[in-house]
Amino acid sequence: MTTTVSAYAANSATEPLTRTTIERRAVGPHDVAFDIKFAGICHSDIHTVKAEWGRPNYPVVPGHEIAGVVTEVGSEVTRYKVGDRVGVGCFVDSCRECDNCRAGLQQYCTGSGMVGTYDATDRDGTPTYGGYSTAIVVDENYVLRIPDSIPLDKAAPLLCAGITLYSPLRHWNAGPGKQVAVIGLGGLGHMGVKLAHAMGARVTVLSQSLKKMEDGLQLGADEYYATSDPDTFRKLAGRFDLILNTVSANLDMGAFLSLLETDGTLVELGAPEKPLVVPFFPLGIGRRSLSGSMIGGIPETQEMLDFCAEHGVTPEIEVIDASYVNEAYERVLASDVRYRFVIDAATI
Ligand SMILES: [Zn+2]
Ligand SMILES: [Zn+2]
Repeated sequence: MTTTVSAYAANSATEPLTRTTIERRAVGPHDVAFDIKFAGICHSDIHTVKAEWGRPNYPVVPGHEIAGVVTEVGSEVTRYKVGDRVGVGCFVDSCRECDNCRAGLQQYCTGSGMVGTYDATDRDGTPTYGGYSTAIVVDENYVLRIPDSIPLDKAAPLLCAGITLYSPLRHWNAGPGKQVAVIGLGGLGHMGVKLAHAMGARVTVLSQSLKKMEDGLQLGADEYYATSDPDTFRKLAGRFDLILNTVSANLDMGAFLSLLETDGTLVELGAPEKPLVVPFFPLGIGRRSLSGSMIGGIPETQEMLDFCAEHGVTPEIEVIDASYVNEAYERVLASDVRYRFVIDAATI
C-alpha cells in the first residue's frame, strides 16, 4: 500500500510551487521509510523547476538535502532501525554493478546512471519526488546516518552542499601546508571555507566584492580578496594548490588558472550556462589542470557527515516555513541568503 504524504510541487516552469499530495511506495524488504524533518533548498532545485536544465517531468517535488527520523524499516534492513536519524542526498539508487558503483562512486554510475532524488525514474518505474515533503521511502543502501551531534536542520545542507565541497577537497588532498581558494561565498562556498579550514588548509575566498569579507573570515578563511580588483590577480599569481569554483557564472578562466601553482588544479563545481573558454597558456605553463567534480558517493558522504560531527562543522542556515519557498527562491537567485534556506517540513 502506498502512503499519501503532503508536498510542495512545481507544476510548470512559470508557476509558483504549491502545496499538494504525493504517493510514497509501500516499504519493501530493503527500504527505509522516514519522516522528513528538514529539507535544504539547493540552486539545482530552482534550475530544475524552471526547466533551465531541460524540461522536467512535472509535477516536480524538489529537494535533495533531506534529514529526518526513521519510522519503518523493511524486513531485510540491517543498517537502520525505527528512531534513527537519517538523511538522503542527491540520489536514491544507481545500477549497483558498474565499477564506479562497486567503488562507492555511485554519483558517477556508468550503468543505468544514478537515480536522482527528484525528477528521475525509480527502479519500479515511478517518478522520484524529493524532500519538500513530509515523508520518503528509500533503499537502505542510499540512506546516510546523521551523527547525534549534528542538529537535523543543519544536517540537511551537508547532503548536497557539504559533500559537493568535501569530495574535491579530499580528492585533491586539501590539508596542512596546502593553499586552497574558494571562488564565491554562497551556499556551496561557505561550506568550502569551513571544510577546508577544518582540514587544516590555508583558505582564501575570492569573491566579486568585499561585501561578505567579515563573514568569510569568521567562517574560517585566512584571506579574502575581491576579484573585481585587478590587483588581486597580480598579488595572488601562482599561489594556490587548489581552487574550487562554486559560482555558475562564466569566469575569465585564464585569469583564475594563473592563480594556480605548478601542477595546481581548478575544479568546477557550479554548472556554467555556457561552455567554458579556456586559453592554452595559463594551463600549459605550470602543467595546471582544470577539472570538475559532482557531489560524492555514499561512503564518502557518510565520511563527510562523520567528519563534520568530529570537527563541529555545520552550515549557516535560515529555517523557513514551506509557504515561504517561492520567496526563498527569489532570494537565492538574488544571492540574498546567509547561507542556506532549510524548509521546516512540519510546515508542509
Ligand atoms: Zn544540490
Ligand atoms: Zn553503476
